This record gives sequence, C-alpha cells and structure tokens, in this order.
Amino acid sequence: MEVVVATRNKGKMKEILSFGIPSVVFTSLEDYPAIGDIEETGSTFTDNALLKARHVCNATGLPALADDSGLVVDALGGEPGVYSARYGNCATDKERYMLLLQKMIDVPDDKRQARFVCVMALVFPDGREYVEDGVCEGVIARKPAGDNGFGYDPVFYIPELGMTMAQLPMDVKNTISHRARALQKIKRLLEKIAGEYIL
Ligand code: IMP
Repeated sequence: MEVVVATRNKGKMKEILSFGIPSVVFTSLEDYPAIGDIEETGSTFTDNALLKARHVCNATGLPALADDSGLVVDALGGEPGVYSARYGNCATDKERYMLLLQKMIDVPDDKRQARFVCVMALVFPDGREYVEDGVCEGVIARKPAGDNGFGYDPVFYIPELGMTMAQLPMDVKNTISHRARALQKIKRLLEKIAGEYIL
C-alpha cells in the first residue's frame, strides 16, 4: 500500500521512514511536484492535519498522511499553538523563542508548563479518516540552552531529564517527542489497516 505524506520536509520523512512499517511504501510531495504548498488555514492542529491529508488524498487518489504540530503554553492561553511556525511574524526560530521568553518574563517557575503537540491525520480515498495525537510535556526555561533540534527546542525544558529538548541527543528526542508518540499510534493503525486494505 502506498501512503503519500503531505510534506516536503526531509527531516520529517526520515523520521517517518525510520518507523519502518511493513507493507506500506511512503512517498512524499517530492514525488508529486504538481501538488503545490497547502496553506494551513485551520484554527486547530486537527483541522490543519485533516485539510492537508484530504487535499493530498483528493489530488493523488491515494491514502495520505499529514501532520500539524506546535507548542502550547498554558500561561499564554495556548499560544503560540497553531501559529508556532509564524509566531509574532518573526523571521527566525531564535526570534520566535526569544519573543516567547520575553512574554513569559513575569511568569513564575510553577506556572511555566507547556507541551509540544502533534496531530496526524490519515485519509483514505474511500472516505475513511483517522486522527491520532502525541504530546510531550515540559516547562518554558528562563534562557535558551542546547544546539540540537529546531524551533522552540532550546527553551523547552524537560524536568524529568534535567535538560532542554535542544540538549537531548537526536535519537532520544525521536523516542519521546510528540511526533514520535503520534507516529507510534499511526504505525499501529497502519499495520492493522494495511492487512485489510485493497486499493
Ligand atoms: P509544522 O508542524 O511543521 O507546521 O511545525 C510547526 C512549528 O511548531 C514549527 O515550525 C516549530 O516552530 C514548532 N515545532 C513543532 N515541532 C517542534 C519540535 O519538535 N521542536 C521545536 N519546535 C517544534
């Protein structure tokens, strides 16, 4: 069974391929250049994941997998949320996490809870739709630390591990991250469906 992943991001594809789901061949938008960029116009992670998966499924006639992810900060009423990638219209990851630290400057240590959230949607040409999510809990640090990862990783501190996401080795991040947790659920679902699914 071919599943088209609604992304051109090589890092995301690598992570998905590393899950090695038997009887599923993953392709990406790199293999379907006629499909342009899909705007994330939804107001929730689920809306955005579903709209991307539906678009790619309609365009290719094949099962499609899409994700949407971001950082949710309790003290900021859920910001930056679905706007994580374009927070404050900043141009770089560093500007975005520095803006976040600035907004959190007066928030006390016991009120700095946050989580990375990833929602994955799997849509089939016969109309079946599945949604799974993954969450990684932490707190917003007072200052950035670490050089690994991307996005808000340098300011996302995981108390149980005593370090920020950007200080974790990549292979550890890939077992505890929101994306890894959502992928784990998608893997179980796909293993079950691939056995029954006939195109
Ligand atoms: P998207 O799901 O690729 O649209 O990512 C949304 C945005 O959320 C990214 O541009 C990052 O700013 C943030 N984000 C998502 N996952 C992570 C992560 O694992 N670490 C740091 N930031 C992330």
